[in-house]
Formats: sequence, C-alpha cells, structure tokens
Amino acid sequence: MSAPAVVGLDVGGTTTKALVVAADGTVVHQENRATAHAADPVPGLAAELDRLTAVAAAQGLAVVGAGVVTPGLIDEATGTVRYASNLGWRDVPLRAALQDRSAVPVTTGHDVRAAGLAEQLLGAARGVDDVLLVTIGTGIAAALVGGGRALTGGTGAAGEIGHAPVRPGGEVCPCGQRGCLEVYASGAGVARRYETRTGRARSAAGVVGGLDTDPVAREVWADATSALADALVTATLLLDPSVVVLGGGLAAAAADLLEPVQAGLSAGLTWREPPPVALTRLGSLAGCLGAAAMAMASAGRDVELAGWTAVPAR
Ligand SMILES: [Zn+2]
Repeated sequence: MSAPAVVGLDVGGTTTKALVVAADGTVVHQENRATAHAADPVPGLAAELDRLTAVAAAQGLAVVGAGVVTPGLIDEATGTVRYASNLGWRDVPLRAALQDRSAVPVTTGHDVRAAGLAEQLLGAARGVDDVLLVTIGTGIAAALVGGGRALTGGTGAAGEIGHAPVRPGGEVCPCGQRGCLEVYASGAGVARRYETRTGRARSAAGVVGGLDTDPVAREVWADATSALADALVTATLLLDPSVVVLGGGLAAAAADLLEPVQAGLSAGLTWREPPPVALTRLGSLAGCLGAAAMAMASAGRDVELAGWTAVPAR
C-alpha cells in the first residue's frame, strides 16, 4: 500500500507554487509555474492537481488531500473566492468546482492566513499562540493565528493591514484612500516613491541594495520601516500578539527591515513591552506549506501534522 501524502497549491498573481508533502512532513516535490490567467481557472487547477497526484504516485505516495490557497476576499464557509484583483477572479466557487473534478478531497483558503498557520506550525512562530504574520510583498497583508486557526473576520476581509491609514491625509493609494501603509512600505510603494524622487526605476530590493550609498534610498526605506512600525504599534495594542513575523518578498531585506522596525515598535510603545519581531523561516513557501497543512488537517491527520518540522530551502 502506498504511503500517504498531500498536495499544497498557492495560486499567486504571477506564480503558482506547488508542493507534494509526505504525511511525515517530508517535502518530496516542489515547483513554481507561471499562473495561467484563464477565464475559468478551475479546469487548469484541476489538471494541476491530477498531475501532482501522478507525481506523488510515481514516488510511491497516495495523495489523501489537496489544499489550494489564493489571495483575495474569500468566503471560507463555502470555499468561494468573492474577489481576487490580481487573479482577475470574481465569485469563483473554487472548492466545490475543484472537488467536482478531483478524485482527492480538496480544501481551499486564503494565502496569507495559510502562511500564518504554517509559520505557527513549523516556522518562525513554532509552538507560539497569537501570532501576527505580516507579509510585505507587492502589497501588504496580515494574518492573526490563535488556537490553530486564523481570524477571518465578519466578511472574510480580516488582515488588510496594508490599507490601514498610517499617514492620515498622506499619499493616495490605488484603493482610493490616502496614507495607507502599502503606499509607503509595500514593494510597489517603495519602488514608486523612489522613482518619483529620482526619475530612476528601481525595485524595492534595489532600493535596499542602495542603502549604503544612496541617500534617497535611505530616505524612502526609512519612511517604509517607520510606517510599518507605526502600523505594528496599533496592531500590538489591539491584538497583543506573542510574536510578530515579517514575511513576503521584502523579508529578504533581513536586518535592514528587522532592526528599524523593532526600534520603531519599541519607541512607539511607551507603557508596555513590544512583542518580539522575527523574520519568516519559510520564506515564499509559507502559503504553500500552509495549504498542504490544511489538507492534512482536513484529512484528519492532525497527529502526523503536529510532527512536521521540514523546512524546505527558500
Ligand atoms: Zn489603500
């Protein structure tokens, strides 16, 4: 009899990441593909699940469940993606439609919440409850994980910290508000603010790379980390997280991100200790590992799931 495994799929605006994870937590297959932007995304994703099931079978593994996570506004009760702007999806009944076409049980969820679950299960917040994960990539979003689940909110829109107005009356955000955290601290925001000042296009990573030599890069990055610290002051006072984990692409800035954010958070909290702030240990695979973990939980394999420790290379 084949050993059990699960599939995790993290569908992003640009890249879809996939993992096959054996029930003991060993990552046996990992791949990234360009996301196909089809009018109906379901047939392509169902074919992807079939293919990954075959990949597992070729290694002597039987897939007992698949987890599929996406960005956007998600009705978790029905597994419907209400709206995902960077996928171009509206009212996609993802879980039901995939389940109709797939031989394995399918569970669906939100990418950042899944990443938060993964960081708590086997990442930077292992064994800690009340974890606030903030992912800083093209945009910024957060997940609060406690008691083994991530807060979804009344409309499924919990965690949109990127649109918290940290600079009231500040620069305009594409969402229509002013002074949103994303305007200053997201990858897109950092790149845009650098280009506005210099006329030179540079990615956020490029801005970080210029911190030693370029005063404009230093100024834009200081604005980013101070906006992020201010958002975390409010989040800390509201939620009292045991740890704050910084993830997403900009976590690659490492100490250049962590140190000013820690300092700003400490300075902003006068009467209480700041929570520890840590960098992601799972990197860009956090959402995908979370999807795989959700599939394990939904297959009733919580005992094996609790033993997962494998952290694949970033
Ligand atoms: Zn906004």
